[in-house]
Amino acid sequence: MDANIGVLALQGNVSEHIDAFLLALERTRHGSASEVFEVRSPADLADCTVLAIPGGESTTISRLIDKNGLYEPIRQFRGGIFATCAGMVLMATEVADPRIHPLGLMDMTVDRNAFGRQKESFEADLPIASLEGGPFHAIFIRAPVVTRAGSRVTTLARLEQGIVAVEQGKNIALSFHPELGDDTRFHEMFLKKNGI
Ligand code: GLN
Repeated sequence: MDANIGVLALQGNVSEHIDAFLLALERTRHGSASEVFEVRSPADLADCTVLAIPGGESTTISRLIDKNGLYEPIRQFRGGIFATCAGMVLMATEVADPRIHPLGLMDMTVDRNAFGRQKESFEADLPIASLEGGPFHAIFIRAPVVTRAGSRVTTLARLEQGIVAVEQGKNIALSFHPELGDDTRFHEMFLKKNGI
């Protein structure tokens, strides 16, 4: 299916996600007329089939979602949402940080900076049962973890510190950054899940 793929472009890894989606579309040869574009306003969102919320600084993205009048439109959005790192924080129902106004779209509690200072950045090979082709080389940068996953949330991967990849309905949320590097299997999985 041809689709409009929006990337929330308020702050963070926006161009990296756009490039990853373009590569994913090329690799799967699906949706040859699909478009990938930046979303900054409710009008932009209204044109989207699916949305990505990138990594970045979740307190800043949260503030800008409110400021740009996007909070309710994103909550009402009918397509799937692909949320990475800071995006995962925003998708939660509960986040223990008063600066975050969570969207509450995935039934989970997220700890924003679960790895603390010592392990601010690291990489790990994650076995993901639903991904063919071997473990996913994941890059973690000041990564959050899911500390509680509700019954509608499926865990895709976990580390000692907690859950780092989840899905619920059409949505996927990851603690790490699949948009860095050229492995587009998670972008492809998200598009497929949404019929694209
Ligand atoms: N933990 C960071 C935050 O809550 C997210 C880091 C990231 O997106 N790389 O903003």
